[in-house]
Amino acid sequence: MKRLNAINAVVNTEPNESFDYLESPAIEVFGEKVFSFSKMKDRLPEDVYKSLMDTVENNAKIDSSIADVVAAAMKDWALSLGATHYAHVFQPLTGYTAEKHDSMLELENEKLVPKFDGETLMFGEPDGSSFPNGGIRATNTARGYTAWDVTSPAYVMESPSGTTLCIPTVFISWTGEALDKKTPVLRSMQALDKQATRILKLFGHKEIDKVVSYGGPEQEYFLIDKNFYFARPDLMACGRTLFGAPPPKGQEFDDHYFGAIPDRVLSFMMEAERELFELGIPIKTRHNEVAPGQYEVAPSFEPANLVSDHNQLVMTVFKKTALRHGFVCLMHEKPFKDLNGSGKHLNWSMGNKNQGNLFKPGETPHENAQFLVFCSAVIHAVYHNAELLRAAVASATNDHRLGANEAPPAIISIFLGDQLADIFQQIKKGGAKKSKKSGILNLGIDSIPEIPKHSGDRNRTSPFAFTGNRFEYRAVGSNQSISTPLYVLNTIVADSLDYMAKELETVTKGDPKKLNGAIQKLLQGIIKECETVLFEGDGYSEKWHKEAAKRGLPNLRTTADALTNFVTKEAIALFKKHKVLSKVELISREEVYTEQYVNHVNVESNLVVEISKTVILPAAIRYQSELASNKANLIAVGVETCSDSLVELTNSINSLQQKVSELSLLKQNLPDSLHKASRVTSDEILPKIQEIRVIADALEALVADDLWPLPSYQEMLFIK
Ligand code: ADP
Ligand code: MG
Repeated sequence: MKRLNAINAVVNTEPNESFDYLESPAIEVFGEKVFSFSKMKDRLPEDVYKSLMDTVENNAKIDSSIADVVAAAMKDWALSLGATHYAHVFQPLTGYTAEKHDSMLELENEKLVPKFDGETLMFGEPDGSSFPNGGIRATNTARGYTAWDVTSPAYVMESPSGTTLCIPTVFISWTGEALDKKTPVLRSMQALDKQATRILKLFGHKEIDKVVSYGGPEQEYFLIDKNFYFARPDLMACGRTLFGAPPPKGQEFDDHYFGAIPDRVLSFMMEAERELFELGIPIKTRHNEVAPGQYEVAPSFEPANLVSDHNQLVMTVFKKTALRHGFVCLMHEKPFKDLNGSGKHLNWSMGNKNQGNLFKPGETPHENAQFLVFCSAVIHAVYHNAELLRAAVASATNDHRLGANEAPPAIISIFLGDQLADIFQQIKKGGAKKSKKSGILNLGIDSIPEIPKHSGDRNRTSPFAFTGNRFEYRAVGSNQSISTPLYVLNTIVADSLDYMAKELETVTKGDPKKLNGAIQKLLQGIIKECETVLFEGDGYSEKWHKEAAKRGLPNLRTTADALTNFVTKEAIALFKKHKVLSKVELISREEVYTEQYVNHVNVESNLVVEISKTVILPAAIRYQSELASNKANLIAVGVETCSDSLVELTNSINSLQQKVSELSLLKQNLPDSLHKASRVTSDEILPKIQEIRVIADALEALVADDLWPLPSYQEMLFIK
């Protein structure tokens, strides 16, 4: 049986031999495979390098005449690392990255000669007709173009038999519409820069460098042995277990969180991190997470354009490296029922070289008017666009996590922490006069120094929390590209800054003496208008759900509820105003994501029917026959018998068959209209899948273990 073979194989797995970490220390290999700006500086003529940096740093239009020179340098560098091919890498709406490899070697006089010119660097035309485009392109006008994103350095990707030069690009249609997730990130960064600069000007800053938004994604994931993975068709096709009874021991002891990392896992982590170092990705943190088999990796934060590519690379490298260590890395938001799901807390901030991090409160935030203005912009933005923020993280897989009792709820609220919450209360009442002191934690141990306390405690239950010098958007799913949440955040905050700048500009009319009064009035107005979005309490509690409803905060539980918020009149106007996405581009996204939702659940329901009929029911029926013949035998020899198990088993088998037919019927009658199908998916199909699971999981606890074909939770989570 597959399951027993899997257990056997896992038990005999040896930890992987790894690389020689002393021979070439991490510090030395960092960025080795990146054609970084400093490598460009070394290898390019000065004027070419300057022109390129002008594009990177000041959004200047790229001068195409330098492309040939850059391409030649890039080619030589890549060839020296063994590259034979190049690939334009982009972020299509699938949420994954896409790449088409072309050889840099061309035939000339019966010889292969390396060729890679400026045009090849700048543009590509992959046949994009099979990428989701939400009606932007019919297959007969399917041209899609990739264009070099100068802001994100090229790199070389290594595989066991060679290397490929990878060039980050944006992906656009023949008619100029964005077909990817990266383009709107870049556009939204420009919008944010423009509006933030207006505010900084009001504060009298003269040297204002480009304002950039930053992201630091904390990536959670599960590792399970690949032998188990390949014995579970549900994990293979859907990334989550559609069946599986809870293990006798789950996460109730909290003994996994921050526990010692097992050798085999640590060896995997170190190898993956090492490859990421080579790719110039500054990995910082690793630890065990709450659920057994669950872990987290976090890099140091980087500008949004870069981190949106880098997080995709982190996911790719983790998945690839895991396989080499005999694991499968599950990025699904909820692979295991009743255990914690995986998120990707997206730490977000904005700042620039001269004014620094604009969310840094300083010692006395009540006096730091600039900080309070930027902070209020976020409150204003989140209050007015909670539905959009929810839509930005909507997916079939993340729905299982949002609102389950370990992840922030689908209700979007902001946690500010004691000190800030208090300051905003003071502003509301007429003006902030003092900041609550952060205080000192005295441990009562003489040898350990006093620890200065943070100004606000943590509140893991909040979907959107201020964490000292940044906001942490916690509703993002582990499997998602962070691009959408990034550009939504950038855009809504840009819009609020625009509103605030306009107000302040109008009142002050260039007179800096009027600024403080104008700010107090503006912030007071914002806090009065938006304070319902602020919540310091327990976001998991039933009480909050009731309270939030009373406050009129939206609670969009499913993707079907959430996605339509991308295409409201307000959303269309917002993205158009800031030139982030046109109406056509927005509508296409809503359509693509809705289709993905329906398709994903459709695959799940296909599997539920198939696994029920071909795996679970056969096992149950075999056991039923065993019990039945046992009963007949006992009666034949005149032994009195109790047939409780047989009755229970038979009832379960019957109801499973019944529910599976009901699900099949629902699938057959799925409406043709995409949006109606999405409703049926969320309101009828998913609940039916859940009903089936309850019966199947009860059967797992009833059928003889040696007949049960699927690896159990106990085995998958605890045998390593
Ligand atoms: P936690 O303690 O919340 O689990 P981690 O240390 O795991 O935090 O991760 C915090 C993440 O926040 C890191 O990726 C870190 O680089 C990022 N971060 C820190 N400061 C900023 C900032 N100013 N802007 C954006 N991200 C930041
Ligand atoms: Mg963390």
